[in-house]
Amino acid sequence: MSNNETLFQRAQITTPGGVNSPVRAFRSVGGTPRFIKKAQGAYFWDADDKRYIDYIGSWGPAILGHAHPEVISAVQQAASLGLSFGAPTEAEILMAEEICKLVPSIEQVRLVSSGTEATMSALRLARGATKRDKIIKFEGCYHGHADSLLVKAGSGLLTFGNPTSSGVPNDFTKHTLVLDYNDCTQLENAFKELGDQIACVIVEPVAGNMNLIKASDAFLQTMRRLCTEYGSILIFDEVMCGFRVALGGAQSIYNITPDLTALGKVIGGGLPVAAFGGKAEIMAHLAPLGGVYQAGTLSGNPVAVAAGLTTLKLIQAPDFYTNLTNQTQKLVGGLNAVAKELNIDFCADAIGGMFGIYFCKDVPNSFKQVMQADANKFKQFFHEMLELGIYLAPSAFEAGFVSAQHTNSVIETTISAARIALQKLTC
Ligand code: PLP
Repeated sequence: MSNNETLFQRAQITTPGGVNSPVRAFRSVGGTPRFIKKAQGAYFWDADDKRYIDYIGSWGPAILGHAHPEVISAVQQAASLGLSFGAPTEAEILMAEEICKLVPSIEQVRLVSSGTEATMSALRLARGATKRDKIIKFEGCYHGHADSLLVKAGSGLLTFGNPTSSGVPNDFTKHTLVLDYNDCTQLENAFKELGDQIACVIVEPVAGNMNLIKASDAFLQTMRRLCTEYGSILIFDEVMCGFRVALGGAQSIYNITPDLTALGKVIGGGLPVAAFGGKAEIMAHLAPLGGVYQAGTLSGNPVAVAAGLTTLKLIQAPDFYTNLTNQTQKLVGGLNAVAKELNIDFCADAIGGMFGIYFCKDVPNSFKQVMQADANKFKQFFHEMLELGIYLAPSAFEAGFVSAQHTNSVIETTISAARIALQKLTC
């Protein structure tokens, strides 16, 4: 039995499903999860000392590559001064200043410890500020595991959603309207009918939780216009795409100013930092200034903030995003070329350092289209690639991530492996 198998068996005795976050369990691709011992740059090593090129990067944060020496040293330095104070620090001010500078729609920001906290708090704030209950989200977008966001589409247009998780009462989701991503007509209709009751619209402007799906310009512009017209708050959930697709996030690419933004992942550089922020007049509703309560024992933790600040500094290096984008484009370009040569229904797409691979002819632009891709082919491909030392997201419905350490030779090795893996699919 391999060390990974032994560890997985052992883990299942004391941890439900053997993992601390479900997708790590390989349920949708089958097989044994790899237990990671260490990581460096574009690579990590499992419990059997097998090395992989890593394309999940801790699900987004590892944009600099793993264990960047400057980040590690900042963390060590901060840790030596104490792990947590429960009182404010100057580093938190620096972090807030940096976020407000890089994302101009954010005038004020509050630090939290996870993306879930960020979106959950942004939602409460939007409801508190507008004194309205209803919210709009889109099918296939994931915003963390807060009750009112774990919702799938209702059975008809303009019906409120059903919980996707047991343990969430219908009463909690009855205010959540779930619409189709990239569908402007549905949005228009929803606002026509209920606009003056809608507290907020929350959206991933680049969706990374139904594989990679880009919003159309028209979709985001319609959303912005309707929110302004009806006094609803537009929340961009950039926990994944913020500082990942561009230095100013997806909002800088689409040139749209949301009222609130949720951030996470990259801003913690691998440690638990997330944030939500936006217009100062909305943020003023938060305690201790206003009546919307939100708090956290470890919010703005000094060690985590040290990792975040150093990461934010390093991603501002000249050409950082041009290089990241180029490498990601090289990857998807290479994969597309191999698939074309082998005549396989496969395509890949990317934006900044985020990419998607789909076992279908054309790049999908909706949840329904992405669900039509061949998940079995993905499964086979995933395992062939894993065998060849390439670690892709263990699900056909997750985006992939490239880091600044994915050099030409790393990308070329990946494309060569993909050629072998895709060839096997044609046999
Ligand atoms: N929002 C988006 C867009 C995400 O991708 C995620 C996590 O993947 C979250 C929110 C929740 O973040 P966390 O897992 O840090 O709670």
